[in-house]
Amino acid sequence: MERIYFDNAATTALDKEVLQAMLPYMTTHFGNPSSIYSYGRETRLAIETARKSVAKLLNAHPGEIFFTSCGTESNNTAIAAAVRDLGCKHIISSPIEHHAVLHTVEHYVSGDVSCSFVKLLANGHIDLQDLEEQLSSCEDRCLVTLMHANNEIGNLLDINVVGNLCKKYNAIFHSDCVQTIGHYPLDLRKTPFHFISGSGHKFHGPKGAGILYVNDNIKIQPFILGGSQERNMRAGTENLYGIVGFAKALETAMSDHEKDSSYIQSLKTYMIEQLRKEIKCVSFNGDAEGKSLYTILSASFPKTEKSEMILFNLDINHICASGGSACTSGADQGSHVIRVINNNPNLVTVRFSFSKYNTKEEIDKVVRKLKELI
Ligand code: PLP
Repeated sequence: MERIYFDNAATTALDKEVLQAMLPYMTTHFGNPSSIYSYGRETRLAIETARKSVAKLLNAHPGEIFFTSCGTESNNTAIAAAVRDLGCKHIISSPIEHHAVLHTVEHYVSGDVSCSFVKLLANGHIDLQDLEEQLSSCEDRCLVTLMHANNEIGNLLDINVVGNLCKKYNAIFHSDCVQTIGHYPLDLRKTPFHFISGSGHKFHGPKGAGILYVNDNIKIQPFILGGSQERNMRAGTENLYGIVGFAKALETAMSDHEKDSSYIQSLKTYMIEQLRKEIKCVSFNGDAEGKSLYTILSASFPKTEKSEMILFNLDINHICASGGSACTSGADQGSHVIRVINNNPNLVTVRFSFSKYNTKEEIDKVVRKLKELI
């Protein structure tokens, strides 16, 4: 039986064109980019071409783009650098960040580094007034680390407002853009970020390939020590085919952005309508019909003996969805995000997340199945 894949916020299928772009670098073009002979020169050129292309698509300078192994490494690098190299003594974050940020922030909180969370509004958005109050009352230099789009409920942050607040109070602004790079056009010359993190496997690129954008105006030290790759900023032989794949995936995503985003938004809207029509007790988490990522829909249903098994039952019916974030290796301790925004023990929550490969027919099938399972 065919599976229905509604977990595109966890990871996406590799685009065929991306695979084609990567294949030569897995076969004939295998040279180490640090080698000075022709094999190495070929692959060095591929990496620098990829960097230029990524920079152009994000309206950044090539020197501001560093290739990493994933979004998690990029988040770790940015937070470590803000504390170690940029004099940040206080970190302002939110309780609904991804664990790649939350656990990293926790790690760096020590005797002389403190942290606080911004308040959330009832719909899960960041309370920007509270953010400004915290920034204005903090005597130390702050790092603000707030994600562009939440990976469980889809809420979108107003990055320009936050960036300008950080500018006003001389704070460093890092944003985990793992769910938005490749899904939204970003203009890094116009948006006052110091750091952003991205990950290729969230937009039909390969796993194990991420980027960290570091604004030209700040100088940081490497997080991974060793060789002089990435202009001494990230040691380790480059993930050549991952980098080539990342750039190709971003090129494809941005050239098809208008078409794909409106199609995927139409799927999300259709699923909301169908769920409301067929399952009256459904509710949606976050700001699902407002400032929300078009790929993610978080739905809750009353908890019953039957509905409690919903993820398991969806799985045995070949439907892939998740209870929250899929990034914690199967350990189901419930979602910290849902606990914070909607602490109702009488609900079960499912995150559906869509891609250009999904269809309305799939939504009809899933809604029909959900009706039986609730
Ligand atoms: N940040 C967010 C918002 C994510 O959704 C994820 C993955 O789900 C990550 C970070 C981690 O990215 P990666 O899998 O590339 O380490």
